Amino acid sequence: CRKICVMTSGGDSSGMNAVVRAVVLYGTSKGCDVYAVYEGYQGLVDGGHQIRKMDSHSVRGFLSVGGTSIGTARCMAFRERPGRLKAAHNLVKTGVDSLIICGGDGSLSGANLFRSEWPSLLEELRKTGEISEEQEKLHKNMSIVGLVGSIDNDMSGTDITIGAVTSVHRICEAIDAVNTTALSHSRAFVIEAMGRHCGWLTLASGMASGADFIFIPERPPAEDDWESAMCNVVKRHRDLGKRKTIIVVAEGALDKHLKPIKVNDIKDILTDRLGLDTRVTVLGHTQRGGSPCAFDRILATTQAIAAVDAVLAATPDSPSPLICMNENRTTIQPLMASVEKTQQVAQAIETKDFAKAISLRDNQ
Ligand code: ATP
Repeated sequence: CRKICVMTSGGDSSGMNAVVRAVVLYGTSKGCDVYAVYEGYQGLVDGGHQIRKMDSHSVRGFLSVGGTSIGTARCMAFRERPGRLKAAHNLVKTGVDSLIICGGDGSLSGANLFRSEWPSLLEELRKTGEISEEQEKLHKNMSIVGLVGSIDNDMSGTDITIGAVTSVHRICEAIDAVNTTALSHSRAFVIEAMGRHCGWLTLASGMASGADFIFIPERPPAEDDWESAMCNVVKRHRDLGKRKTIIVVAEGALDKHLKPIKVNDIKDILTDRLGLDTRVTVLGHTQRGGSPCAFDRILATTQAIAAVDAVLAATPDSPSPLICMNENRTTIQPLMASVEKTQQVAQAIETKDFAKAISLRDNQ
């Protein structure tokens, strides 16, 4: 029978547990042995009790719990070949023939590298006597399937990532809570949202909470003087009788001149120019936590089932698949092409080439 390992890696996101649960339940129903790697790539490198056989009892209650109960970690050792050699040895010892990895673009790049190196890792293990010739032959194929677990929704190839919608819910709940004080005191609040190079969380939560103004990295304000542009909008809303002002700022927001836009600068502008009693709220990790919303549970479950099916359908020559969602359908994209494009977008934003970043995103 097939032996599948499931693991979560990189930053946690709500819905990762639902992935683990569905891989275990569906995988075992298909006659596979399912293992979980605890603590991401670190667990793969350490082996031993970090790779554990799972059954329906192991994942009881997982569906509604946020984050990942099998743990995640950033692992330096896996970035180097000796670390990946240990990981390969641990998988061969356990008899695993496929890996389902739920993580961000870093985790998925690592996964792709691991698969491309697999034959040479086995060869090296055989030459050093750590595995036999027979084991090398038996394990010559390793299937790797990626699932995108990330609150940022920044992966090319998919419309939505596991955990992003829950994160928007968290941000909206926080803005709704802040609204109470804003309305009572007629205050302005400047709220910083996560998302690194990607403004999706800010855009979605800004729309869902009726923010007055948002700042995102992909579309810096068109005006040289964004300060006046923002104040004009806020003043117009105030003139219409609005008692509260909400500005949502992505952590990677930039102005037209590519200078970071910081929440405290916005606070000072609203205070000095409009005389508004203004407070800053940095939401931080509250955005990542909590029980997954129904959408993320459903997304994680359907994608995990597709991942097990992809493992069962994989051939030695087929490229590693990434389970995606496009126009409300589960689709399969080549893992490496999606990872490369995601990294190109991040690089274009880092080097301030917004036109390229936007065209890459629009065509994804
Ligand atoms: P998030 O989007 O939340 O940051 P991520 O998966 O992108 O998630 P990373 O910290 O970039 O998070 O990667 C997680 C782990 O994947 C790293 O700690 C490392 O072990 C492994 N990894 C990342 N990039 C590579 C790579 N190029 N080669 C080998 N392993 C890698």
